[in-house]
Formats: sequence, C-alpha cells, structure tokens
Amino acid sequence: MGRYCIYCGRESTPDNPVVNNVCLECRIKRGELLIVSRRELRYDLCKICGNVRIGYRWMNTHSFTEALKTVVYRDIPRYVKPGEAVTIKGVDGYELLSEANWRTRINVYFHIEYGGVEKSVPVEFIVYFNPVKCPRCMMVESGEYEAVIQLRNIDRRRLDRILMEEFSRDRRLQRDLIDVIESGNGVDLYFYNHGAARKLARRLASRLGLRIMENYEQVGQRSGKPRARLSISLKP
Ligand SMILES: [Zn+2]
Ligand SMILES: [Zn+2]
Repeated sequence: MGRYCIYCGRESTPDNPVVNNVCLECRIKRGELLIVSRRELRYDLCKICGNVRIGYRWMNTHSFTEALKTVVYRDIPRYVKPGEAVTIKGVDGYELLSEANWRTRINVYFHIEYGGVEKSVPVEFIVYFNPVKCPRCMMVESGEYEAVIQLRNIDRRRLDRILMEEFSRDRRLQRDLIDVIESGNGVDLYFYNHGAARKLARRLASRLGLRIMENYEQVGQRSGKPRARLSISLKP
C-alpha cells in the first residue's frame, strides 16, 4: 500500500515524498518546513571600526557586508528550527534583498532534507544594526583599562560556553567587561575594574581547574595617586 498525503491525496513519489502523512509540496505550501522564531534581528555595530557584536563577543568585521555574513553564519541559524520530519543540514548561502546598510533585508537559504529530498529553502530576515562605539574603540581612544585576564591553551569551545554562562548569569560582570580580544592560542578579557576581573578569574579557575597568577603594572597617576593595572593569567 502506498502512502498518501492527507491534504492533497497524492501518493508518495521520490520527487514529492510523503512523510508522517504529508507530502513535501503540502509542507512547503503550508509553510511547515522551517519554524522561524524571529525575523527581525538587531545587533550592535561599531560605527568606527565596523565590528559587530554577537552575544557577549565582538566579531572582527569591517563593513556592513562582512557584518551581515558573520551574522548569517554565526547567529541566524539559532532562530530557525526544523519542522516535522525535516532535517536542517546547514546554511547554503544568502542574498541581499536591499543594499547592505543599517537596515538590510536578506534571504538566508537553509539546506534541508525531507523524505530523502534535499532542498534549499529561503527565509527572509530584516537585520538592523545599532550604531555604537565598540569597547575596543573606546579603550583605544581613552587608553584606559584597569584589568586584563589572559587565558591560554584552553579548549575554546568549553571556554566559550563557560564565559557565556558566567556573563549571562551576572549582568554586572558583563557591564564591567570592556572587550574580549582573540590572541593566537587564547583570549584576553579586558575590564574596567579590578573587582570584576578578580571575580571572573576566581570562577574560571574553579570551573576549569586553573591556577591564578596576578601581576601589577604601574601606569601613571590618577588624582595624584599611583595607578596600577592588574594583569591576571590563568594557568593549567
Ligand atoms: Zn500533499
Ligand atoms: Zn570599534
């Protein structure tokens, strides 16, 4: 016995497979292939250097075009979930429907599989960029930061996940964070104050089983008192 679509009554064919009683064409018609939780997305974009912020991290981009590409591959997929019996295999690409700018309409093509048929399915988004000055540009402008945590040779995925958790759990910590700068085999986290850096260093040390090494460097005076910059390195 063949499988029939409950909506159009057609029998399953290799081109138009019926899965869970619904054929591919009816899934498309009914808009059931992909579940999109958000179609208007906002990101901070530095009006000086063009970097874009995704989550807690500033990504190195230098133009609207690069920022859009980063957003498409690094963030947009999390707003799209597969519909019933659909597998999302990845992002095939994207096309701009309007000029890359502070507000850009964009089609993102998701590669999906349904009953053995693979397809590229477009989803339209509007990406808004908020013009801001990124922490790095502010830091460079002022030459000021009070503390830096240096992490080296630590599994990046695990570190990323832990940092995400710590920053979303503690808004104050996030507020005191100036920047996360990638370095060859690790990252540097810059802070406005010693307290926040110490607090995060302690948490990272205990979660990752690392030792804390602190160093001070004199960096001139502030209101007549010597000013010290704290540098913390976490070592296995
Ligand atoms: Zn059908
Ligand atoms: Zn910037």
